[in-house]
Amino acid sequence: MRMEDCLFCKIIKGEVPSQKVYEDEEILAFKDIHPAAPIHILVIPKKHIDSLAQMQAEDEEMIGKIYHVINQIAEEQGFKENGYRVIVNCGKDGGQEVMHLHFHLLAGKSLGEKIVG
Ligand code: AMP
Ligand code: ZN
Repeated sequence: MRMEDCLFCKIIKGEVPSQKVYEDEEILAFKDIHPAAPIHILVIPKKHIDSLAQMQAEDEEMIGKIYHVINQIAEEQGFKENGYRVIVNCGKDGGQEVMHLHFHLLAGKSLGEKIVG
């Protein structure tokens, strides 16, 4: 998809407002507009990547850093000890609606039924 049409690229550029939680040169985290838990944060690369299926070898380090940022947010917001869940929906069967790679970070309650594990 074209970056100009991408909602999350618009959020990165500040053309669409968001409640930012974390930002550096490569990564942005902001609150999900329809929270599925008391804490629901989206962590995204600033580089437009349609989905996890489109990641390249060169993105490995940045995606590793996303997990590090998730831990930093968990630490800062005080839910690291109680725990959290990270979800990536990928493609049609994965239920992905916004085609810009994003990591859902959910926390703040017992998240209940597991799909796996
Ligand atoms: P997915 O279904 O995995 O593609 O998730 C897309 C997520 O983006 C959903 O949880 C939406 O609630 C969220 N979302 C959509 N528009 C916005 C927005 N303008 N600001 C923050 N989150 C949004
Ligand atoms: Zn994008």
